[in-house]
Amino acid sequence: MVSRVIPVDPFDLVIFGGTGDLARRKILPGLFRRFCAGQMPPEARIIGAARADISEADYREMVGDAIEEFSDGAVVDQDHLAAFLADLTYVAIDAKGENGWRELAGHMRRDVVRAFYFSVAPGLFGDLAERLNNHGLTDEKSRIVVEKPFGRDLATAQQLNRDLAAFFDETQIYRIDHYLGKETVQNLMAVRFGNVLFEPLWNSQFVDHIQITVAETVGVGGRGEYYDKSGAMRDMVQNHLMQLLCLIAMEPPARFDPDAVRDEKLKVIRALEPVEPHHIVRGQYGADTEDPIAHPDYRTAVADLKSATESFIALKTHIANWRWAGTPFYLRTGKRLVARSSEISIVFKETPHSIFGEEAGRHRNVLSIRLQPNEGIKLGVTIKEPGPGGMRLMDVPLDMTFADALGEEGAENVDAYERLIMDVIRGNQTLFMRGDEVEAAWAWTDPIIKGWQQRNDVPKPYDSHSAGPDAATQLMRRDGREWREVAL
Ligand code: NAP
Repeated sequence: MVSRVIPVDPFDLVIFGGTGDLARRKILPGLFRRFCAGQMPPEARIIGAARADISEADYREMVGDAIEEFSDGAVVDQDHLAAFLADLTYVAIDAKGENGWRELAGHMRRDVVRAFYFSVAPGLFGDLAERLNNHGLTDEKSRIVVEKPFGRDLATAQQLNRDLAAFFDETQIYRIDHYLGKETVQNLMAVRFGNVLFEPLWNSQFVDHIQITVAETVGVGGRGEYYDKSGAMRDMVQNHLMQLLCLIAMEPPARFDPDAVRDEKLKVIRALEPVEPHHIVRGQYGADTEDPIAHPDYRTAVADLKSATESFIALKTHIANWRWAGTPFYLRTGKRLVARSSEISIVFKETPHSIFGEEAGRHRNVLSIRLQPNEGIKLGVTIKEPGPGGMRLMDVPLDMTFADALGEEGAENVDAYERLIMDVIRGNQTLFMRGDEVEAAWAWTDPIIKGWQQRNDVPKPYDSHSAGPDAATQLMRRDGREWREVAL
């Protein structure tokens, strides 16, 4: 099955921070893949911008190297690469000064979509917005893309929203959460709202609980200084896990359009109950026992031996509305865990009565939505154990792993970033966070973090390559439940 590629309209895309890590690792390789797929029209133009005073030739060479390095092992077609690089432009510009803005204006065309990707520290968002406006670089068709972190609490997020709102309408602001660009996440909505099977069961009458795990094997690496000011709650839960929770829990929107979807997500965030302290477990990873020099413990990695920032968090929360009253949501994310795995599991209740007797075993249906690795959706159903052993029950998965179900071409590996950038050009905000959503998420997160600070809460140590602190296991066991295994 071959997926259809519809070219987007001609555009000028300026990447502020065009020499940075994110641009080299994700944005430019993603754009190159869309170029190879024929989705970028020949008139599309990409302009890298940063302070470094480098020549266009040097910039093209740097981008070429980045595309080779971050192509995930795929062979890079050299003809395509040469054609892609030939159209790249670079402008040395200072977000905080006047340098380079006139030159940038000289490169921009009229009558094409203008998109400005703010791939820089959030402290520069306001400066960029102001200078874009002062230099007359924007019009009503212009869009800006802003990266996470969008604030570190409610007050800073509100300030960022005000800084951007001074120059741009909300319909022009694309706040990226790359989890929303994942194929499976959109498929989750297709499965929920495109089938009659699931929606009648999608409530507290039939769902025992929901768990969302985003497990990483890597540590903080070179991002220690940034990460230690943030922690798993700010870096992962407030945005990515919260967005996943919203898509699972929201009411069916009237249409699949940006405001209809985001209105429903916002209602979920506003209905989240405050989390009680004993429903949260925080942790910090220990050193790798085999190679403690290369992979030190968390505090050594962030160069603060008294750090109280969490590299792991597990929590239980509830949504106070008719659909979900009584169904807990368990969220868990952490670094240096046993496997890299992101999965949402909807664990249904047991049948009300077993006609087969207790010896046949009691089973639950689980719908698991796997974001990585091997994106796909599985539904565990109960059948009879084959053979003459009498009526014993077992679970088998109805497997919708995309690579198996759709064949190689159908499961074309489109990275979340490239999908989202194309949505920006198309002017589709459905998979981007609205300002009020981000603020509501911080309003829920802030009191939790303040509570830790007031109690001088210290994260619990956990072993590298483990599933996190034992207390996280106990958080579930106290409720007679188990985390699904973090496995490859
Ligand atoms: P980075 O590697 O430090 O790159 C920052 C970029 O901004 C560089 O190109 C830098 O080039 C440019 N820059 C800095 N000051 C500037 C100024 N005054 N005017 C114009 N350009 C300036 O950062 P990054 O990792 O790419 O991250 C960029 C943004 O994405 C941040 O908000 C980050 O939190 C977010 N993010 C990053 C990742 C990731 O994987 N890296 C993931 C999610 C979100 P010059 O120094 O030459 O100006």
